[in-house]
Amino acid sequence: MPKPIYTISIIAEILSAEAKLVDGQNVIEYLVIDSRSVLVPENSLFFALNSHRDGHEFIKDAYTKGIRNFIITEKKYAEDHPDCNFLLVKDALKALQSLATYHRNQFDLKVIGITGSNGKTIVKEWLYQLLATDFDIVRSPKSYNSQIGVPLSVWQIDADNSLGIFEAGISAANEMETIATIIQPEIGILTNIGEAHAEGFSSKKEKLIEKLKLFKNTDLFIYSPDYISEIELKDLPGNKKFSWSGIQAADLRIIEVENIQEHCHIKAIYLDKEIECTLPFVDKASIEDGIICWATLLALGYTPEEVALRIKKLSHVTMRLELKNGINQCSVIDDSYSADISSLAIALDFLNQQNQHPKKTVILSELFETGKNDADLYAEIAGLLKQKNVNRLIGIGTHISKFASLFKLETQFFDDTDAFIEGFVGLSFSHETILVKGARRFEFGRISKLLTQKIHDTVLEIDLNAMVGNLQFYRSKVKPGVKIMAMVKAFSYGSGSFEIANLLQFHKVDYLAVAYADEGIALRKAGITLPIMVMSPEESAFDAIIEHHLEPEIYSIEILNSFLNVVSNYDFIYPIHIKIDSGMHRLGFDGSEIDNLSAILKDNQQVKVQSIFSHLVASSEVEHDGFTKHQIEEFGKISAELIQVLGYKPLLHIANTSGISRWAEGQMDMVRLGIGLYGFDSALINNRGLQTTMVLKTTVTQVKTLKAGETVGYSRRGVMPNGGKIATVKIGYADGYSRAFGNGVGEMLINGHLVPTIGSICMDMTMLDVSGIEVKAGDEAIVFNQEHNIMELAKQINTIPYEILTNISQRVKRVYFYE
Ligand SMILES: *Cc1c(COP(=O)(O)O)cnc(C)c1O
Repeated sequence: MPKPIYTISIIAEILSAEAKLVDGQNVIEYLVIDSRSVLVPENSLFFALNSHRDGHEFIKDAYTKGIRNFIITEKKYAEDHPDCNFLLVKDALKALQSLATYHRNQFDLKVIGITGSNGKTIVKEWLYQLLATDFDIVRSPKSYNSQIGVPLSVWQIDADNSLGIFEAGISAANEMETIATIIQPEIGILTNIGEAHAEGFSSKKEKLIEKLKLFKNTDLFIYSPDYISEIELKDLPGNKKFSWSGIQAADLRIIEVENIQEHCHIKAIYLDKEIECTLPFVDKASIEDGIICWATLLALGYTPEEVALRIKKLSHVTMRLELKNGINQCSVIDDSYSADISSLAIALDFLNQQNQHPKKTVILSELFETGKNDADLYAEIAGLLKQKNVNRLIGIGTHISKFASLFKLETQFFDDTDAFIEGFVGLSFSHETILVKGARRFEFGRISKLLTQKIHDTVLEIDLNAMVGNLQFYRSKVKPGVKIMAMVKAFSYGSGSFEIANLLQFHKVDYLAVAYADEGIALRKAGITLPIMVMSPEESAFDAIIEHHLEPEIYSIEILNSFLNVVSNYDFIYPIHIKIDSGMHRLGFDGSEIDNLSAILKDNQQVKVQSIFSHLVASSEVEHDGFTKHQIEEFGKISAELIQVLGYKPLLHIANTSGISRWAEGQMDMVRLGIGLYGFDSALINNRGLQTTMVLKTTVTQVKTLKAGETVGYSRRGVMPNGGKIATVKIGYADGYSRAFGNGVGEMLINGHLVPTIGSICMDMTMLDVSGIEVKAGDEAIVFNQEHNIMELAKQINTIPYEILTNISQRVKRVYFYE
């Protein structure tokens, strides 16, 4: 069956939508839910979805990007753009889902549906690797598995596809039925089931029943009995079932799992015979995902020999883009796992978010996109590069160079990766952002290695998606219309400067705040255009503050007078922020100074009070709730007096992170989100609802065996009465790993084991007691991550997460990940 052509009027019919059309023949190929990510605007249909923000607000932006077709739920928006097609529906998300379901129903390809708590994306990608020789496969991009991601994934199905592999994730009861109707899997795979509360269910059984709804009409169901003890066998879905387990009877009964060097050898009983396979991975999660793929291929009828051959060749899956510091002041975005047009669009969006260098270069291999001829494919890519303001393309591969004339920008072409590497010295890369994006077979890892600075062996990894997740978490907590000021002082709590600011700007926070003028200037130099408040503006920096459009916090009459003095040299009205001391007793005006302050401001038209604010001293602590209330009231009173005199109303704000979580009445016009963005909120039990944003890793330099009575480190503080084994790692107090962690107080994770420090922490090194554990030089040691978390570390040395984070020194390299 050929791919149907959807004109906007056909879509209106499919959705039974009320249509206001100017061109009913407009052909729709792309469904857009985010006005920031647009591929081909002429053939795109924008859905004004209501999630954290009202999607109608972004129609204007989508229009500016060239989109002329819209699905809306509020009629009045159709008035603003008379040259556009509008479809009015009751529920935009349902419309997206119905359209995808309709599309799905036009094809009868084989479809695999995957759900579970973990491993969905890896299993999907590996099945793709394992089956790509036999099928023309369409699959979910990245981990598109939500109520929105699933319809977008299924919409990609094309006439050539013979197999679809889609993942489904749910976060609440009653979500799966819709997803099941869109995917309609013939084959179902349940990966595993984790804790219920983490995903918004009250019990594991409830969660399991909901997940299994995906498989209601499947012909074949692949699962492990270990995960479904709550369900009776007769209630399991699937005409045929195929099970795997390492602890109980199953079709694929795993009997031995052994890691030898970088490989895992697995033995199992299948059809009464012993079979085996070797995975090129050794971590627990990969082993389980590998076994699931093994079971799936056997269930599909492949012989054990054939499956073993294919599994041996599996390759590492990473859905993440990596942003690193490059040579000659470049920034490098490394994305060499997949190369199809949808992942290229995502990578280009990320490139476009980077404002630190005006010049943007893309190093691109040829793509292997099915269902499109090369001329169309490269024309589309050329359009994308233009739309995303890319300045230079370096194309690698003999196909892409044939279409050189399509690309209207600076270009260079090489036949293959080797040719590029040979020509590397002749190419210039300097002060630019470079996206390295290639299909796996081009081995672009070699290119990004050439372009990036050598990564020291201690790195802080920052998960930008987790940070966006945390931002959305707080967005959902603030009342509509309340603005968000993101606190990026102290190098964004240790996580980075322009990298984080770029992300926050892209995700449309309203304000940024830094501690010192220098921090603000660095952000301006990196292209950040959001308003920025400076909390401790030094008088010597006033001119620089004005020159860089930074907005000073004014906390005393003296600082106000001296700022007015400087600003009088300029002829514009300048924004300032007035800090009120409502009980912190750090900086700010107290009640007695307001008359004086008002008198000065009233007489002076050269500054405009952009906001009036104060700071809560104990917003997370129940025992001080009385005081917090008092602060909010006091602030209300003082600010009211000031507003009376000013005659206009500046933004009012008082709530920090835990203020947002606990004090709805403290939200006012704006909130100041700090540590919550980075994954911590002492008002939440165990930071529930927040994601871990940072992982600090280092490397083992040497392993030594000590005899009984020998000592470790300075002053012989580390004693080993019975001897043992120590590992030296490349992090010390100069990197921010406090001396207080020494002598067994702190612990690190090596190869899955928590091991204590031994002896004192040195400036650049730390010794760990690894007695009885397999460790070798080069192994990774985790200082903190999600399991071994910063809360724990803070407790060990009697401090708070803020201090652990901001102590990590600048010499520790930051690497950013983005999906
Ligand atoms: C640092 C800071 C914040 C943010 O506090 P968190 O507890 O990290 O949310 C808010 N307001 C002011 C004035 C600050 O200095």
